[in-house]
Amino acid sequence: MELTKRQEQIVEIVKQEGPITGRQIAEKLSLIRATLRPDLTLLTMAGILEARPRVGYIFTGKTINSLVAQRINKIKVKDVCSFPFVLDEQVSVYDAIVSMFMEDVGTLFITKNGYLEGVVSRKDLLKATMGGMDVSKVPVMVVMTKMPNVVTINPDDPILLAAQKLVSREIDALPVVEVKTLANGEEKLRVTGRITKTTITKLFVELGETR
Ligand code: ADP
Repeated sequence: MELTKRQEQIVEIVKQEGPITGRQIAEKLSLIRATLRPDLTLLTMAGILEARPRVGYIFTGKTINSLVAQRINKIKVKDVCSFPFVLDEQVSVYDAIVSMFMEDVGTLFITKNGYLEGVVSRKDLLKATMGGMDVSKVPVMVVMTKMPNVVTINPDDPILLAAQKLVSREIDALPVVEVKTLANGEEKLRVTGRITKTTITKLFVELGETR
């Protein structure tokens, strides 16, 4: 959202002179009150101005940028994550490559007894094929990045944290996980979703298109 020149003038007046009534703002701009009404409504709804009954308009201190950040900070991982695709660690490198094509994903989450054990990316599989190993025999667990080195995210974490992890760790995908405590007290991770760079790009487009 971008403010018009007049909306910016209104914000400036309220910043300097608030609390100030709509009529007084109109006078300052040599306009009639009715002309300003849509602008004042928009600025109030956007949270930039606050209309106090019998007092007038005051500036809330929020800028467009801080409002966008506020909106992004409300979005949680579970609101936008997609369905995870997982493979057992005993599956061959060959079958992992086939799955990557079939499922149209760039990163595979690898499990043992249903719990997260590792991740395999496109380059991990390319490296395996270039290394000359028999890809139809070698299990994918040999080439994956293993726990505890897997970077994960929780469903209730903010999506901004997921995006920060993708950027800082220079990876394409994060498994969304829930902790399960086994009978012996051991903690394991169940994969419940997937956050990828595509998830963040789609969200970016959606936020950018929202009026
Ligand atoms: P690409 O293979 O296309 O470069 P990535 O950048 O995601 O894909 O992967 C780079 C390396 O990081 C690979 O070795 C991969 O196993 C590892 N990796 C990918 N995702 C994760 C993750 N969530 N946690 C830890 N390591 C990861």
